[in-house]
Amino acid sequence: MRTRNDETLGSQSLGRRDFLGATLGACAIIPLGRFSRVQLATSRSGSLTKEQRDSMTPSQIIDELKKGNERFRAGKMTQRDYLAEKRASAPGQYPAAVVLGCLDSRVPAEIIFDTGIGDAFVGRVAGNVVNDDMLGSMEFACGVSGAKVVLVLGHTACGAVKGAIDDVVLGNLTGLLARIKPAIPATKFEGEKSTKNAPYVDAVARTNVLLGLDEIRRRSPILEDLEKKGTIKIAGAMYNLSTGNVDFVG
Ligand SMILES: [Zn+2]
Repeated sequence: MRTRNDETLGSQSLGRRDFLGATLGACAIIPLGRFSRVQLATSRSGSLTKEQRDSMTPSQIIDELKKGNERFRAGKMTQRDYLAEKRASAPGQYPAAVVLGCLDSRVPAEIIFDTGIGDAFVGRVAGNVVNDDMLGSMEFACGVSGAKVVLVLGHTACGAVKGAIDDVVLGNLTGLLARIKPAIPATKFEGEKSTKNAPYVDAVARTNVLLGLDEIRRRSPILEDLEKKGTIKIAGAMYNLSTGNVDFVG
């Protein structure tokens, strides 16, 4: 258990005063774990400190991401002071999660989870495919920097998934789409299996997320070991372009 002062001392944390001021009375007696659950995404002008991040469990961090998505869907996103977040995070970053998302311009992880500067690592590549560089980035995020959640984030109507289904051949894109193709035969689906059928495209995208999770565990003993120890959680989710909802799928 820590007091408010532990979290606010230090020059970089001055910008959090307005948020913490509202909770001053209660913080001295509330266990940090409970207190910190409201820190990931609702602090208006601060960034996660190491103590705050480290006090959260992987499950609590996933809960915070879900709450952030609820705020996004409800149009009640946190009013942020990005300059203050920039100042607070410049001396060091302590992100709670690493998200592997799609290149798609409509799926910005920081926005759909309503997170601030310094809250989450985000790697984006078409089709949210797992490759060596992304694995290395995730190993840095969790093994070196201390993030506790790996989230593979697919989405509906994914153009990369459609490209894989349609067997598109185009320059370097061909090799990228090859990483998605195993999801096609692995998808059990009743109905028309073509890119004209949106539910089919989404089913393949969902499989692609699940296979991505398998691939992370298989190809990264570091992350697999951290997961087995309970230090991190490796999770998958699908974002719905129409509703804005993030559905955790694995
Ligand atoms: Zn996509």
